[in-house]
Amino acid sequence: MNKPVAAAFSERPAAPAVFQTVSTIGKEARAELKGQKPAILWMTGLSGAGKSTIANRVEERLWRYGHHTILLDGDNLRFGLNSDLAFTDADRVENIRRTAEVAKLMLEAGLIVICSLISPFRRERMLARQRVGPDEFLEVFVDAPLELCQRRDPKGLYARALTGQIPNFTGISSPYEPPEAPEVHLRTDAHDVDALSDQVLDVLRRKGIMTRTP
Ligand code: ADP
Repeated sequence: MNKPVAAAFSERPAAPAVFQTVSTIGKEARAELKGQKPAILWMTGLSGAGKSTIANRVEERLWRYGHHTILLDGDNLRFGLNSDLAFTDADRVENIRRTAEVAKLMLEAGLIVICSLISPFRRERMLARQRVGPDEFLEVFVDAPLELCQRRDPKGLYARALTGQIPNFTGISSPYEPPEAPEVHLRTDAHDVDALSDQVLDVLRRKGIMTRTP
């Protein structure tokens, strides 16, 4: 369905006269200034599952502990960097590619990067993962049944999608492929936001990403 564009994700050839420059100050040195281990938390899930809510709470708590973060929200990126993209399969793939590249740059800056976007396709999430080191990418599955997301409908999008006003809407007229082995699985139908944030922070502590105590 999205193969032709997906193939371009990581194999885009550089122009023949372009060479990579290696900077003297690397990711580790930048992160050392902040006393933290950089990482990407990639929150994926249906619209209304709770990605933005939890991403925001997790960032707030990391900030309180003195960790330097950045939150890349898929909707917000569509107002700027990705404002030329729609919701076709091809545009969704490009949306993920650009977001993954921005996240990688932020990682290079030494930050803990929280990405919050539906990112419905397994293959593109895998490609995003493969752009960085094996310990640097944590997939966080923000999981709630479609029926509950439809009932929550915080932005009224399901109502519009169900009456055909929004084409290619994930869960209604476009597929969502759930992660098979996420580093963190959050059941937002079963726990509240504080408990789920604790679950994320526990994993960050175990992985040595969150190192500070109050
Ligand atoms: P998404 O970013 O996945 O589209 P949002 O975070 O924008 O979802 O919306 C989720 C809605 O569900 C919010 O109105 C939030 O208050 C509500 N909600 C209820 N329970 C939870 C929970 N346990 N975790 C996250 N969100 C929840």
